[in-house]
Amino acid sequence: MLDLIIIGAGPAGITAGIYATRKKLNTLLITKDFFGQVSHAFFIENYPGFKRIKGMDLIKKFKNHLEKFKINVNQGESVTKIKKKKNFFEVFTSENDRYQTKTIIIASGAKPRKIGIEGEEKFLGRGVSYCPVCDGFLFSQKNVAIIGGGNSGCEAALYLLPIAKKIYLLETSNKLRADKITQEKIFDSKKIEVVFNAKVKKIKGETSVDKIIVEQKKETREILVEGVFVQIGVMPDVDFAKKVVRMDKIGKIIINPRTCETSTKGIFAAGDVANNLYHQVVIAAAQGAIAALSAAKYLEKIEK
Ligand SMILES: Cc1cc2nc3c(=O)[nH]c(=O)nc-3n(C[C@H](O)[C@H](O)[C@H](O)COP(=O)(O)OP(=O)(O)OC[C@H]3O[C@@H](n4cnc5c(N)ncnc54)[C@H](O)[C@@H]3O)c2cc1C
Repeated sequence: MLDLIIIGAGPAGITAGIYATRKKLNTLLITKDFFGQVSHAFFIENYPGFKRIKGMDLIKKFKNHLEKFKINVNQGESVTKIKKKKNFFEVFTSENDRYQTKTIIIASGAKPRKIGIEGEEKFLGRGVSYCPVCDGFLFSQKNVAIIGGGNSGCEAALYLLPIAKKIYLLETSNKLRADKITQEKIFDSKKIEVVFNAKVKKIKGETSVDKIIVEQKKETREILVEGVFVQIGVMPDVDFAKKVVRMDKIGKIIINPRTCETSTKGIFAAGDVANNLYHQVVIAAAQGAIAALSAAKYLEKIEK
């Protein structure tokens, strides 16, 4: 019987791990992969203490910090189901393992939201991507489209600036939604064409992407591109917990922000998987700490 299982090793899960081991909880961290979404961020400029650091470098520092403490980690393993028992939980995994634990912290973050148009699935890995940092190099001196004018879309455009030949940044509304400082950089670049009021209808090609069909103010336009980066936000990665905790309409786990408690006693949630308004590394890390401290307090209480 474990004290705590942490699910996920992004900023929330890793921070929870640091706090849990310092509390001497018998903890197991189960994660699909180390690092999480932050590894896809080219540069992070808003994590205190680091004026500008590559996303991957920042999260490697988190991991090195965690490794200072004694914690059992099952990497490359996904949690598939949680079952509530009378005084504990059973956690099932993709490796057909089954663990028993008194508390759980769900920190499984989020995955990219799909746009759901013709060609998206067909050309996945053949021109369609959700990760500019992972796949950007494939589009050296090529025309690319980025779908989404929020922070991730605009940052993707800036990331691709030295790589691509021309970048079309497509936004459904009539303004970008990224931070002002990022928007200024977008409008300063001659290589980026911002296409407002643009609804991408289809992604087309033969063996790989060669164009997108865009509807703009009831007119249909074809844009010739070899790469399409879908950057329209993220969805919580939490199907495995649907039966044990309450979620909001979009499937995020409802938490008490003071304690990170969920609707089920003994289960806590932290980071992008929770119903937070904002999705940032500093928030995920902070909630990882709150969740671990709350789990420790809960364990003290039930052991009394
Ligand atoms: C391109 C991009 C740029 C960004 N830029 C910034 C920025 O500049 N500044 C900033 O503060 N934030 C930025 N963010 C947001 C930030 O990365 C996230 O808010 C943060 O990573 C959330 O952390 P998390 O720990 O909640 O989840 P995640 O980082 O999503 O980590 C989730 C972890 O859970 C694991 N997991 C998922 N499902 C399971 C399962 N079933 N079983 C086991 N493990 C599982 C995953 O493998 C992963 O390790 C950016 C995000 C993206 C995508």
